[in-house]
Amino acid sequence: MTKYIVIAGGVISGVGKGITTSSIGKILKEYGYSVTAVKIDPYLNYDAGTLRPTEHGEVWVTADGGEIDQDLGNYERFLNIDIPKSNNITTGQIYKAVIDKERKGEFLGKTVQFIPHIPEEIITRVKHASKGYDFTLVEIGGTIGDFENLPFLFAMKRLEREIGKENIIYVLVSYLPVPSHMGEMKTKPTQQAIRMLSETGIIPDFIICRSRNPLDDVRKKKIETYANISSEYVISEPDIDTIYRIPLDLEKENFGLKILSEFRMKLKKKPDFKEWQQLVDSIAAPKNKIKVAMVGKYVDIGNFNLKDSYISVNESLLHAGASLGIGIQIEWIDAKKLEKGVNVGEMLKDYDGLIIPGGFGSSGVEGKINAIRYARENDLPFLGLCYGLQLAVVEFARNVCSMKGANTTENDKKTEYPVIDILPTQKAILEKNDYGGTMRLGAYAAKLKKDTKVYGLYNEIGRLKEDKEKIEKLAKDKSQKFRLGKLTDNNDLVLERHRHRYEVTPKFIDKIAEKGLVFSGCHIREDDTKLMEFIELPKHKYFLATQGHPEFKSSLGKPSPLFYGFVKAAIGKLPKYRELR
Ligand code: GLN
Repeated sequence: MTKYIVIAGGVISGVGKGITTSSIGKILKEYGYSVTAVKIDPYLNYDAGTLRPTEHGEVWVTADGGEIDQDLGNYERFLNIDIPKSNNITTGQIYKAVIDKERKGEFLGKTVQFIPHIPEEIITRVKHASKGYDFTLVEIGGTIGDFENLPFLFAMKRLEREIGKENIIYVLVSYLPVPSHMGEMKTKPTQQAIRMLSETGIIPDFIICRSRNPLDDVRKKKIETYANISSEYVISEPDIDTIYRIPLDLEKENFGLKILSEFRMKLKKKPDFKEWQQLVDSIAAPKNKIKVAMVGKYVDIGNFNLKDSYISVNESLLHAGASLGIGIQIEWIDAKKLEKGVNVGEMLKDYDGLIIPGGFGSSGVEGKINAIRYARENDLPFLGLCYGLQLAVVEFARNVCSMKGANTTENDKKTEYPVIDILPTQKAILEKNDYGGTMRLGAYAAKLKKDTKVYGLYNEIGRLKEDKEKIEKLAKDKSQKFRLGKLTDNNDLVLERHRHRYEVTPKFIDKIAEKGLVFSGCHIREDDTKLMEFIELPKHKYFLATQGHPEFKSSLGKPSPLFYGFVKAAIGKLPKYRELR
């Protein structure tokens, strides 16, 4: 039977529940158990697809095409597993499902009520996500005391009644402030959060104490005395240099073993955190570093932290750097600053590599194209992601293939050379099948050309083998099979996630390829239409782009092949690594 670990947050939002949840998962996985995670978002939106990225950070895309809260991204980055979209439960989904059932007459004339129907729907979904796993982590969004998350806490308590307390534990991630005028860590808000949680009938089994500093024994005892929770179960989780250190820190407190003992379970395998520790050390104290220019659309963001709109790209660079033992310094450059009248070379000359991440709309497009041209002409390692690929094709068409004014129709509807366009047949297919409106969303298989850089990198990282297994599984899944397209065989295929509308226009492909741009992989639709997935320039140090979003498939210890190649190329650019300042 699956064991459940419910994680809720107290005192303040942004306390680090997601990372704590991911870290617990990492520990249990290292102990030899299979783990999945569910994120509950108490907002009314059906999913995160329509949320403002400036408020919620980047949208995470799942393999099965969900547009989801970033927390699922954290779970995948720590656990290296594909988490389906149904593992993100929102209040909107729950109510919609219950009302839809009522409309269909499924309740047979009964009064449909908050209790029992809402908790029942929640439990059904959590159980569905748990099938086949030893452990399910259920992270409840929001903070204890919010009205919004009460139904979910109630549902968890009811789940406990169904499955027995021996199969479920509760973890409260709390925050202990250190007010500057006192310099002393205060436990009172945590005591109150525990009391508030207990009003729902839930007494937490563990308290994770987030704070600036480690928790001392005096504070642990205080929580024990005032909240009646043994200090053994009060776990310290101080601020640290990198989020990936948290599993290691929690292990120092024997948290994993304490969880197992709560469930009367034993280690299934001896944990080995050596490799993880090395990667963490490499992130925390790199001996050398490279400097990466990330040219994106940062206007309109105001005070919002720029980093958050590209979290997955940042993390993917970090993972690649950790595997190669090099630090990454990312600088975010507003694409608009690279438009007309500036010396792009002057702006980019100090960087070891250029990334053009995904984007929408026409703002800053010419600046991005200028940056790509500079990278292409100056052998500067370049990685284009989604819009990055599209704009690299535009740049090449304009400046190498003499297609004056070539463009994506997203930026210029009247261009003579619409090298990137919405393919009418593609739009029709997506709409007809309701694969998520007009966006190509989620994982799609791409057939790679041998003897390309892309092929070499996917092979080196072991993804050709890994993705082959996933493809075989997908082929058996009726609702997801369309992601494979037309397959002649199961070889040389990779899966990457997508989130876009536009494609390389088929009629221009041969002309562009003639001039030396290699299309190194494509998705082959059932009607034989080829959707271009990868491009590269063979003679360039690293000029590579993809229509997919490889940043959604990168975890610590298993970097994305394209990021890995990019960082490797950027290191090679320097005769000597850049010294740390
Ligand atoms: N705007 C482009 C499209 O819709 C690229 C999207 C992206 O970069 N995610 O196709």
